[in-house]
Amino acid sequence: MVLQLDTSLIKDWDGYKGRPFLISGPCSAETEEQVMETARELAKLNRVSIYRAGIWKPRTRPNTFEGVGISGLKWLRNVKRETGLMVATEVANEKHVYEALKYGIDMLWIGARTSVNPFTVQEIAEALRGVDVMVFVKNPINPDIELWIGAIERIAKAGIKRLGAIHRGFSSYEKTTYRNQPNWQLPIELRRRIPDLPIICDPSHIAGAREYLHEISQKAMDLNFDGLMIESHINPDKALSDAAQQITPNELKELLSRLILRNASTSDPRLLDVLGELRQQIDVFDDHLIDLMEQRMKVSETIGRYKKENNITILQSARWDEIVKRVMILGKSKGLSPELIDSIFRAIHQESINRQMIIMNNGIEDHNGHK
Ligand code: PEP
Ligand code: MN
Repeated sequence: MVLQLDTSLIKDWDGYKGRPFLISGPCSAETEEQVMETARELAKLNRVSIYRAGIWKPRTRPNTFEGVGISGLKWLRNVKRETGLMVATEVANEKHVYEALKYGIDMLWIGARTSVNPFTVQEIAEALRGVDVMVFVKNPINPDIELWIGAIERIAKAGIKRLGAIHRGFSSYEKTTYRNQPNWQLPIELRRRIPDLPIICDPSHIAGAREYLHEISQKAMDLNFDGLMIESHINPDKALSDAAQQITPNELKELLSRLILRNASTSDPRLLDVLGELRQQIDVFDDHLIDLMEQRMKVSETIGRYKKENNITILQSARWDEIVKRVMILGKSKGLSPELIDSIFRAIHQESINRQMIIMNNGIEDHNGHK
């Protein structure tokens, strides 16, 4: 299902300075001096649309810096007065919304620990009813696209028109290179489901370390994201939160200068012709893949019926092992990455097991009319 929300084009938003729509500023407002200094440097770049700073900080453990609270809102108001930058902060309950609006904050974002909770998102939505402010909804910490879309819908229903999503990666149990796994397929699916919704990538919270910021930003641009939210601090190593992932305004400038921006589409008729033909070829191959999968599943179901009749367990570990080894070698010889082969065959195997389970447990009719 494709959703049509009543959102306005990002290029018409206050402060828009071209793609990428750039939101930058410290993870947290710490002191008036740090907030003002960082803002002055960022304003000089002439690329930043919105200045961000967290005032109320959701921290994993208590007794860590939890934000300066309302005094930070005054500093943000001063940033706006002095630099002309639009200003933004995170809100996690209705009180935050009222306070932020009182101080003329231009953009509010809902953090990953808040967007997981429909009660809280609804409370925030009620507080926003009838207000014209920019709002971004970060993805929930768990990779659940419906929960993310649900939070966006709640805010849209409150009448917010300048509404967007922020992709900040997803928490996982496994230790990975990045702090949060990007799971790019989720923002891609979000784009498919709500085509007009602006999507911003937050490389800082995906990376967790400044060395990865550029590669993640480049990837987001290549995937046609509308903008970036990158944490910047006048003295990153001394930051009271997220020190390892913050960069100075100068480093941000350098990162931006290395970003390659490609066009989302072309109007060159010759190129369109070539692309059209190649896309038809892709469709033909995709049809083949689907047909092959259908045939493979029919064979698995037949095997399932033999297993049932002969009282054999569905999962035959040795056989699965043999399949994995064989396809990995074959895939490698064709230049296909082990990740691709692994994920495709895992999914196919799971589907075979599901189908054999149905046959085993219910003996329900399969599509050939066999019991
Ligand atoms: C932040 O932007 O500083 C923040 C707390 O983000 P997230 O909700 O993505 O963790
Ligand atoms: Mn942060």
